[in-house]
Amino acid sequence: MAGFHVHIYVAASISGIAGTSVHIAGYASPGQMVLFSAAGLLGGILPDIDADHSTSYRVAFALFSFLIAFLVMFGVARGASLVEALLVWGAVALFLRYILYYLVMRLTAHRGILHSIPACGVFGLGAVALMHILFAVDAYGAWMCGIFVAGGAMVHLLLDELYSINLFAPGGVKRSFGSALKLFSSNLPATAGIYLALVILWVSVPDYGEAFPAGFGETLLRAVAQTALP
Ligand SMILES: [Zn+2]
Repeated sequence: MAGFHVHIYVAASISGIAGTSVHIAGYASPGQMVLFSAAGLLGGILPDIDADHSTSYRVAFALFSFLIAFLVMFGVARGASLVEALLVWGAVALFLRYILYYLVMRLTAHRGILHSIPACGVFGLGAVALMHILFAVDAYGAWMCGIFVAGGAMVHLLLDELYSINLFAPGGVKRSFGSALKLFSSNLPATAGIYLALVILWVSVPDYGEAFPAGFGETLLRAVAQTALP
């Protein structure tokens, strides 16, 4: 599998290009462009949450915990005093970094179901639900964050799979081939749980069709094609 730094570089490059393209097409303010790109970067490291114990991984996770805590603070502590807002921010950041991280590490197997295609969907739809329901982001912004998170996570799985095809070594394909881009794990309850989460999230998020402005895809592609070269 690809190392943490490779995941960060690739996820940052691809989400940066995608975020900038959406901005150039007129579908994201500079602030949204940064938010969407950060969502893609987060997606790029999420599948290894139960497997990567390196210091760099924990630092990145802490950084995202603090950033997400700001979003929660802006979403729920509107009109609150400075002390109240800071209490919300600190509590959420510590919860994400320590309690959630610990629970995920404890309850999941290394490279288990969180390192799979349905998990990418759960990460993405989870982001849509969080952004829309908790942070009061509009349906379009929430869906874009979700697409970037899910896209980043899919890029992560593809990268791990590419790394398991050892093109230059005799013997070729490593044993880990096929273990990254999977639809289920050997753990049946975990597999059932992830698909159940997928269904629950799908019915909780705002309607996909109504979230995007008319002609979104075409306009986006046309703008990218027209502005790709100087
Ligand atoms: Zn991985």
